Amino acid sequence: MPDDAGLQALREAARFSPDNLPLRRHLADQLLAKGYLAEAEAEYRAALLLAPKDPEISAGLAEAFVRQSSFGAALTALEPFLAEPGHPPRMGLLAARALLGEGDLSGAAYRYRDAVSRDPSLADPELAARLAPPPAQPPAHPLPGHAQPYGQPHQPYGSPQPGYAQPHHPYSPHPPGHGQPHQGYAPPQPVHAPPGADQSTAEVERPPVTFADVAGMEAVKEALRVKLLLPVQQPELFAAYGKRSGGGVLLYGPPGAGKTHLARAAAGELGASFVNVGLADILDMYVGSSERNLRATFEMARRNRPCVLFFDEVDALAARRSDMRQAHTRQLVNQFLAELDGVDEHANEGVLVLAATNAPWYIDVAFRRPGRFDQLVFVPPPDAAARAAILRILCRDKPLAEMDYDAVARVTEQFVGADLKGVVDRAVEAKLHQSIAAGRPIPMSTPDLLAAARTVRPTSVREWLATARNYVLHANESGAWDELMPWIKGGKW
Ligand code: ADP
Repeated sequence: MPDDAGLQALREAARFSPDNLPLRRHLADQLLAKGYLAEAEAEYRAALLLAPKDPEISAGLAEAFVRQSSFGAALTALEPFLAEPGHPPRMGLLAARALLGEGDLSGAAYRYRDAVSRDPSLADPELAARLAPPPAQPPAHPLPGHAQPYGQPHQPYGSPQPGYAQPHHPYSPHPPGHGQPHQGYAPPQPVHAPPGADQSTAEVERPPVTFADVAGMEAVKEALRVKLLLPVQQPELFAAYGKRSGGGVLLYGPPGAGKTHLARAAAGELGASFVNVGLADILDMYVGSSERNLRATFEMARRNRPCVLFFDEVDALAARRSDMRQAHTRQLVNQFLAELDGVDEHANEGVLVLAATNAPWYIDVAFRRPGRFDQLVFVPPPDAAARAAILRILCRDKPLAEMDYDAVARVTEQFVGADLKGVVDRAVEAKLHQSIAAGRPIPMSTPDLLAAARTVRPTSVREWLATARNYVLHANESGAWDELMPWIKGGKW
């Protein structure tokens, strides 16, 4: 395995020969082996653009996902292969881990047995133990008419409920009610949804937070004010200039930098409802159901206007159609575009669409046309002043002694908002233990945060920036990545 210098040389080589498939594959494999998971993921994705049907690359990508606990994404990467009886056993093992992560114990157990029976060297006693049958329990009842996007209700392995018509996991190979899941093999086929099975599982919230709860990020808040909030708050002014509200904003940046927090605060700022749409709310095993879920979600937002409709991980729903191997996934992208456009010019009035992604370069350019996600906004990692401000906000309701937030900001140089939240949570936990032992509340102080900061490993923003650099450094003709450029050209981080 190359040392880090060797890895760096591979990265450089891949940068100079971006179309060299064996090289990119090798780099991706090395990154995965060394645990640079986000970067490995990006490399595998790039390699897949060169060789979309390559099972080894797809397996590598799926492993990168599984190790980052992105189980749904792993299953999506594996899905086209798992339907083939001769798929590489390693894929079956990865599917088992991902299904377990999604709570589909029986599907995971099936995949594990199948993989190990075909390649005994894959046996993993620890995984096998986690797949052991749980004690008998009554079946969880799905909502009537609700097709569960991922996984069947928890159920003792190998004891399906007779007459219990449950939807089964798209990647779980045995059909519902199949008494002996480990015997015989029935590759999953696209299934048509029963009538009425499509509905949005996303929930409508009324966020209590506003921009005052978002530290720093003045440029981002200003962009959201102008693009999203002012047209709703001062429609006459916009009408006078012939401008209408509409169109969405795509927030992008490293994970944990505060995109979801910002979206929620934008809704709170307006006193609007907030619908946070995750992938599991949309993606569905049934042909056509994902599209209907998407429509139902937009309908729900329209019924609750003014509403901020927020799509997290939108790259999975809005990926470039040319990268998609399956016609029904392309249909989903087309449906998404149609919903953004609305049936008429008033359809989406009062519906503010925000989306977030860590991988904006995968988004189909059609999404960036006017009226759709026509504004890209970079949510940067926080600088020292912003980190101190985030810490102040995160600590504000706690019992506090004197706090030197700047000192903590200085030792948390590569931390993003989510990491800082982890630091505060840990410090609070430690303080709670001490207070319980002492029988009185002991206020938190600077050393508590400093001690907690030493135990938290920050999100790798550097890795994210390296990946971003690969994609955008030579692809900024339109100026779309201007905000990001100072970060990836170095100096800022
Ligand atoms: P992302 O969506 O970019 O992955 P999140 O919005 O989930 O990140 O951020 C994780 C948490 O970090 C939030 O719930 C919030 O508590 C905290 N956080 C992030 N950025 C800020 C900020 N600028 N001000 C206050 N809290 C923040």
